[in-house]
Amino acid sequence: VQRSLVLVKPDGVRRGLSGEILRRIEAKGYTLAAVELRQATPEILAAHYAEHEGKPFYEPLVEFMLSGPVLAVVIEGQRCIEGFRSLAGATDPTVAAPGTIRGDLGRDWGLAVQQNLVHGSDSEESAAREIGIWFSGLG
Ligand code: ATP
Repeated sequence: VQRSLVLVKPDGVRRGLSGEILRRIEAKGYTLAAVELRQATPEILAAHYAEHEGKPFYEPLVEFMLSGPVLAVVIEGQRCIEGFRSLAGATDPTVAAPGTIRGDLGRDWGLAVQQNLVHGSDSEESAAREIGIWFSGLG
């Protein structure tokens, strides 16, 4: 069965939306295989965001992701990678469709980094890689 790595980013944890986001994942029918509140480190983020290194938003993104704890979650279910990305909605929360996590709960706060509440793996390959980064031993 497929697994995906979901993060409730620091903005979601700070705003008290962890429960609401987990509720939506469970309501969709996916299983929570692991849930852990963690403070990210520069090393973890360098691995997690390796593909974005060098982009203009990389440094502020890492700084934002270090600004508070994240909820790291492994979800499980048939096609849950695609399913969670559909639940999350478009990257830009201003235009993410209503009904999605970002569309219902997110907005533009006028900050340098796009704070969009959640991350979800985008392929089986990145899911395996990211689960290994956040939960060594799982996956
Ligand atoms: P999606 O694939 O739905 O866009 P994602 O989280 O996988 O979500 P990426 O394109 O992989 O998005 O970018 C990673 C994160 O970097 C985004 O979720 C967002 O927080 C931030 N980001 C991406 N593009 C920008 C940008 N142009 N300006 C600021 N932050 C950005």
